[in-house]
Amino acid sequence: MNTEFSVENEYDLANLIYKIGIRMSLYQSLPSVDKILKTADGVTLITEFGHSAVVNICRQLIEQGRESIKNENKLPHFFTDFKYTIETIRNKLQQQQQVNIQSVYNLTGTVLHTNLGRALWSEVAQQAALTAMQQNVALEYDLDTGKRSHRDHYISELLGQLTGAEAACVVNNNAAAVLLMLATFAQGKEVIISRGELIEIGGAFRIPDIMQQAGCKLVEVGTTNRTHLSDYRNAINENTAFLMKVHSSNYQICGFTKSVSEQELVKLANEFNLPVITDLGSGALVDLSQYGLPSEPTVQEKWAQGVDLISFSGDKLLGGPQAGIIVGKKAWIDRLQSHPLKRALRCDKVILAGLEATLRLYLQPEKLSEKLTALYLLTQPVNELLAKAEQLKTALQEKLGTDYLLQIEDSSAQIGSGSQPLAIIPSVAVTISTEIPGKLTALLQRFKRLPQPIICRVEKEKIWLDLRSLASLALLLETVKQL
Ligand SMILES: *Cc1c(COP(=O)(O)O)cnc(C)c1O
Repeated sequence: MNTEFSVENEYDLANLIYKIGIRMSLYQSLPSVDKILKTADGVTLITEFGHSAVVNICRQLIEQGRESIKNENKLPHFFTDFKYTIETIRNKLQQQQQVNIQSVYNLTGTVLHTNLGRALWSEVAQQAALTAMQQNVALEYDLDTGKRSHRDHYISELLGQLTGAEAACVVNNNAAAVLLMLATFAQGKEVIISRGELIEIGGAFRIPDIMQQAGCKLVEVGTTNRTHLSDYRNAINENTAFLMKVHSSNYQICGFTKSVSEQELVKLANEFNLPVITDLGSGALVDLSQYGLPSEPTVQEKWAQGVDLISFSGDKLLGGPQAGIIVGKKAWIDRLQSHPLKRALRCDKVILAGLEATLRLYLQPEKLSEKLTALYLLTQPVNELLAKAEQLKTALQEKLGTDYLLQIEDSSAQIGSGSQPLAIIPSVAVTISTEIPGKLTALLQRFKRLPQPIICRVEKEKIWLDLRSLASLALLLETVKQL
């Protein structure tokens, strides 16, 4: 029974009538949509945001008002004064336009963080992309002849200069590159791959699944830890499309191991007139060991070893936009370019402009660690990070007071994106700990609620703010003021 309205005597009845009266008058005090729209403030809102959006928000608020009267016998705060009503409508209309893919500070220590958007674009790439967004560009137009050209043309030429490869093909990402290679050369045929290379990359990219999608038959050879050249040789038959190598980017097989190098594989494949294809994953275009970083195999190295097609990502170590790049022999690239799937997987002008600008930086290798943001972050000297950590610690100390203990500690950063998962890059972090229960979680919440949230690591009951992956200390210090 609804006890609020139960009537047992005259007193209850009087009370009930009183309550109904209040409720009625509350309902009556709700404004109508029309009434709101006809006020001067309503007209201003319509001029600014358009009629339909304002009407929608008004309806929502009035509905909320009714719910509040029904459930709580009172008006919500925003209907207690018309000034609040207008303010609430305006806020809601502004919120509608706020992009949820918002900027955050990456203090995780993982420089190429997939969940945070991987590589930051270099200045020149941003400029090129902006131009392509705002203006018409010679995307598929040859300015010399006035004829139609190919959208991958410039990038293909550049990659030729940089890697020695004969041609290139650009698609949406490396997963798409692998799919396109399989679909073009191996539909209805067999692809031979070592059991040690049947990888899964994050986000459900599994080599066996991609094979199935592309309509080819996966022929696994060897074992998880050991695969010999003879394993490949024994698996080759008249239905074999190619031999495939996949770079084990995000894991390592250690101990009693044997894998077959591209060089050996190419020699075998040549006997049977078969191509060798390598999915290189991150695909560095420079030797990272010259910067003291853990080295990844380079694209040039694989091409020199005779691999026919090499695929890699644009937004991993390359430091550019999300893209999948395939370089290799012209005859094979031409076939990729004319496959119908290429049309579905191709990149847009903004990405291609950003990628071209990124690749041009590689033509001036001595300037690379200064101009390519990803490499700049990875190669920052520890003493510079230490100076940044001092500044961050001071700024935080001011805001956090005595409840928290702040320290500067050595930290271990990572490249990220599956590059060298075991390799650690020396770094510096501001760590925050506290004795007071619940305070650490509370602080993490405060970090997340900042206009530009701080994303960090929690380890050993401490918050770790790792400076290696941070793009701009100046901006962060501004934001910390609002903590
Ligand atoms: C990262 C990676 C992929 C997927 O590349 P995306 O550009 O993220 O699609 C495929 N293969 C390997 C070996 C990788 O490391």
